[in-house]
Amino acid sequence: MIPHVSDTPDIKIPSELLPSDGRFGAGPSKVRAQQIAALVADAPHYLGTSHRQSTVKSMVGRVRDGLSNLFDLPDGYEVLLSNGGTTCFWDAATFGLIESKSQHLNFGEFSSKFGTAAAAAPHLDEPQIIKSEPGTHPEAIATAGIDLYALTHNETSTGVSMEILRPDGAEGLVAVDATSAAGGLRVDPSQFDCYYFAPQKSFASDGGLWLALCSPAAIERIEKISASGRWIPAFLDLKTAVDNSRLNQTYNTPALATIHLLASQVEWFNDHGGLEWSAGRSERSAEILYTWAEQSGYARPFVENPAHRSNVIGTIDFVDAIDATQIAAVLRANGIVDTEPYRKLGRNQLRIAMFPAIEPDDVATLCGAINHIVGALS
Ligand SMILES: *Cc1c(COP(=O)(O)O)cnc(C)c1O
Repeated sequence: MIPHVSDTPDIKIPSELLPSDGRFGAGPSKVRAQQIAALVADAPHYLGTSHRQSTVKSMVGRVRDGLSNLFDLPDGYEVLLSNGGTTCFWDAATFGLIESKSQHLNFGEFSSKFGTAAAAAPHLDEPQIIKSEPGTHPEAIATAGIDLYALTHNETSTGVSMEILRPDGAEGLVAVDATSAAGGLRVDPSQFDCYYFAPQKSFASDGGLWLALCSPAAIERIEKISASGRWIPAFLDLKTAVDNSRLNQTYNTPALATIHLLASQVEWFNDHGGLEWSAGRSERSAEILYTWAEQSGYARPFVENPAHRSNVIGTIDFVDAIDATQIAAVLRANGIVDTEPYRKLGRNQLRIAMFPAIEPDDVATLCGAINHIVGALS
């Protein structure tokens, strides 16, 4: 037998410092027990049934109506969905939402990717990329000839969030990657044309699906490009997504459990007061985390500007004398998982998700657990 070698310090966290749920990952993220119970209760007549029949279509309808309510979408806005997650949506948007030239705010790993896809597309002009250092965000600049502004509501790799506003005087569409933000951060739908996300972050479901809240202008753009004769792979065709979504269907088979878990979470938010309530939970968690870090004496928020600190993803730097890798390893050994930082950021850091499903009290307990570990390590 190969001996198990581990340099994780042997530190047992006392039970009163263990959160009620140990999942603090940025995605896939904590799924609530009530969502699972609701899925199990519906399973015998829901799972394993055709996505072309009313049982599943009505669940998709609950998701679409629920999201319209949650975001208080103005008349004419539509909820689209299809398979492939956010990464697939970037490719779909590269084919079907950018007419010729886009502007992209690049301030981390996730926000860089749509721009990279647009730059590689032979049918598009070279995109304009506006970049800033990790831990900050740049501002969009209204520019003649730009027909789509690509913003990111929350940069999950760094824990920076930005307020979603149409750039002053801009004429193009505003498309927002809201993958980790949607449901956990407040947003005004009049400020976007396309707010797209996947359900494994603030919506506490599983990956593999994309959803997009689209304004009439975005739908018009999709129809215009579709009619232009541009070659678009069928799987990435947004016009097909519009047509299927209107029928509460998807182009190909979706994961039924994912849709059910998502519906439960959207309805949980709406039943308690909507986005103000769900975003309020993340706001409370963030207040707890950042206040603790600032008062700790050995840790501090990575994001300098308090206005840019995310309420859904907290990034906490530690002083050099304390190895954050060891803290994350001890937490993991005690059942508290996925607090490791984004790998490519390369900082002495913990990254803690504070999606609405996560109890603010658990964030407070986690802070106590980290204090305990730091005390035991030093
Ligand atoms: C997680 C994440 C993505 C990637 O989502 P997938 O569904 O895995 O493709 C993209 N953008 C942001 C901001 C994210 O947090």
